[in-house]
Amino acid sequence: MLKLDSHPSGRHFLHIPGPSPVPSRVLRAISYQTIDHRGPEFGEFGKAVLSNLKKIFKTDQPVIVYSASGTGSWEGALVNVLNPGDKVLFYETGQFANLWRALATRLGLHPEVVGKPGQDTWRWGVDAAVIEERLRKDTGHEIKAVCVVHNETSTGVTSNIAAVRKAIDDAKHPALLLVDSVSGLGAADFQHDKWGADVTISGSQKGLMLPPGIGFNALSPKAIEASKHNKMPKAYWAWDEIIESNKNGYWPTTPSTNLMYGLHEAMEMMLAEGLDNIFARHQRLAQACRHAVAAWGLENQCLDKDTFSPVLTCIATPEGLDADKLRKHALEKFNLSLGTGLGKIKGKAFRIGHLGDCNELSLMAALSGVEMSFGAMGYKPKASGVVAAQEFLK
Ligand SMILES: *Cc1c(COP(=O)(O)O)cnc(C)c1O
Repeated sequence: MLKLDSHPSGRHFLHIPGPSPVPSRVLRAISYQTIDHRGPEFGEFGKAVLSNLKKIFKTDQPVIVYSASGTGSWEGALVNVLNPGDKVLFYETGQFANLWRALATRLGLHPEVVGKPGQDTWRWGVDAAVIEERLRKDTGHEIKAVCVVHNETSTGVTSNIAAVRKAIDDAKHPALLLVDSVSGLGAADFQHDKWGADVTISGSQKGLMLPPGIGFNALSPKAIEASKHNKMPKAYWAWDEIIESNKNGYWPTTPSTNLMYGLHEAMEMMLAEGLDNIFARHQRLAQACRHAVAAWGLENQCLDKDTFSPVLTCIATPEGLDADKLRKHALEKFNLSLGTGLGKIKGKAFRIGHLGDCNELSLMAALSGVEMSFGAMGYKPKASGVVAAQEFLK
């Protein structure tokens, strides 16, 4: 049972890597009256939302807005550009790459998974050379799409998407590049056009500071062209009617009116802060968090400093320190939510989200909650991570 009517003093510290905290300005915008989604006011509003979205994705091309979570938007991308039985290449960076691949299998596609041989790919970013090598061998161009996760939320790794584009181009391969930036967008720099993504998939509840419920596909001309001829069955997800309707600021079906109010507000806030300032703020909080992890004597799940995520930090726990027990204690004692270890690292890692509407002191609260929970777990940190983060942030 949700105890929504109980009132613990102070506030809940939501430090999972999505959903992220929703700013009160956004919550207030969501509470405006619902209006006629076919009326004149909505058309103008819709156009403003779509225009701002292009700035957030850094694209001149259409951005599709679905009433769906990120998973629905994964499906939207695949069913619009591929054909039944197509071979698609996935790079295994962690649980989200795996879930997306499983969804592709359910749709009747044939995923092939690659990773750098001999490496625990759940601890590193995408190695574009592995993709290039595989594509060079595909002389018959059977692989129709390369699917990569920009910010792997299960491990705290941000991969170099421009390098993946270059690998595809260097291999002179026609595969489309499909990128999941569900947790990257709005928190880590993402450049849809410049980096040459054909479809970028995203969602509302991570860097965009909204509740869950809307998802996105940013498109390229090549992806739009593919969607005109592909044979995967598609109806709700089909881009054509949405693109047509969007020209006047409308949607063919009822959009999530109130979440869209929130989206508009959140994007106004983001553009006012400046995307580069937002990315720098995320980098700084992530660095502070890593100082804490190092002081505690714990290991970052990500082993490659070039791909440390600015969005979240995934901390690998040693034998004898059960990550889920630690999380349970932090929640019950300090009203702090930490992210669980996902997939094969369940119980062996926990995640601290420092994305979206976070600042120095919200991060410090999360670090304190973790540090205070160590004692109850019988874990003695090497030194204080709180002090280390303070030294860095002051
Ligand atoms: C959260 C997330 C998703 C899934 O989104 P849902 O909204 O839960 O469907 C997909 N990919 C990544 C990288 C994510 O972080």
